Amino acid sequence: MKLVNLKDAQQQVSFTEAVKIGLGRNQGVFFPESFQPLADVDALLDKPFAERSTEILYHLIGDELPKDTLSEMVQRAFNFPAKLVAVDDTHYCLELFHGPTLAFKDFGGRFMAECISLFNQGERVTILTATSGDTGAAVAHAFYNKPNVDVVILYPEGKISLAQQKLFTTLGGNIHCYAVKGSFDDCQAMVKSAFLDDELKQTLGLNSANSINISRLVAQVCYYFEAVAQLPKEKRGKVHVSVPSGNFGNVCAAMIAAALGLPVAKLSATTNQNDTVPRYLDSGEWAPNATLESLSNAMDVSKPNNWPRVETMLERGDFNKHDFYSRSVDEDVTQSVMKQLHEQGYLAEPHTAIAYQGLVQDMDADACGVFLATAHPAKFKESVEAVLNHQLDMPKVLTDALLKPCLAEPLQADYESLKQAVMNKIS
Ligand SMILES: *Cc1c(COP(=O)(O)O)cnc(C)c1O
Repeated sequence: MKLVNLKDAQQQVSFTEAVKIGLGRNQGVFFPESFQPLADVDALLDKPFAERSTEILYHLIGDELPKDTLSEMVQRAFNFPAKLVAVDDTHYCLELFHGPTLAFKDFGGRFMAECISLFNQGERVTILTATSGDTGAAVAHAFYNKPNVDVVILYPEGKISLAQQKLFTTLGGNIHCYAVKGSFDDCQAMVKSAFLDDELKQTLGLNSANSINISRLVAQVCYYFEAVAQLPKEKRGKVHVSVPSGNFGNVCAAMIAAALGLPVAKLSATTNQNDTVPRYLDSGEWAPNATLESLSNAMDVSKPNNWPRVETMLERGDFNKHDFYSRSVDEDVTQSVMKQLHEQGYLAEPHTAIAYQGLVQDMDADACGVFLATAHPAKFKESVEAVLNHQLDMPKVLTDALLKPCLAEPLQADYESLKQAVMNKIS
């Protein structure tokens, strides 16, 4: 796989290098120069999930990884299903929350952990990541107790749900957590500064586990194929996919799937009230506002890291601009959609409800819609129970985590504080 830095075309790297470096020069993200369609998508759709996913990743990554090795990595990483559930005849929900931390980020996090363990054999590595809620848990669990790896996680204090927080701050061991007094964008900015600091980078063998890491993105491509594979064949003619979006990594993966030949007629990337992208598409002006807190807190992002990749694909024509929609859904609508879905017999947390709303707004009458359930409702217990007036059953992983003490340390939202804390902790 050949990737270029989208801010500095001179910097060209392999998949292995891109995974190890994370972010390129000038804080540019790496991205393939082009995508080759898969030879026989229909035949691929008939294969089982792990086997198909190995084929897709081998096609994307190329011979940098032997196919047998890749197959083993995929089987370990994707050891839980993606389930397609019919809400009615034309609306299907792709449930991506059946992994160990109950959110779609388990797919990318676990595959990334496989890649890093393989590529960094013997070398010391520190994974530094900011989380808007679910990345932290996925990455922490994926790397927990892995030899030669330390994980540092920053999260905006008080801005993520208790269940989200307890899933990673209670692990201890090689997982070091900091409760930052600021927003997710502040955390993301601190991580970016760390990657510009050569001293820190060298000392700690720094890597990022954010969705800027290409290994997470390519892993996510696989479940879009799984969604279509589970659709009845007669419904695959005009598929509209809707992705609740914050950092725009997940929708970028959907676009890559389409570029590889998956039949996706339309794609919606729906945001909450943090609507930088929808406003940009309307006005042509990139004008991030201060981050607002929402029920769908994992999407409380006003400077989406992955937008340059999505925009590149739209500009290159990898996906037709006119078939791409990005709108924002406000808090009132989010709640009323959660109630509406509940009446229809489907229990959705806020991110999933936003995906559903994004779908129905723009879906053609003759299309079949797939919206993504990116997290388990119990991960947002407080808000789901309040909105729906309905008591949730809690999965065991959550009840266990909620009983344990939080081991995170408080941190000011500035880079020097981070540097000092991490240097003391790890070096
Ligand atoms: C991270 C996350 C999102 C947003 O995904 P992006 O790839 O950042 O756009 C949506 N829903 C949930 C539950 C998440 O954890």
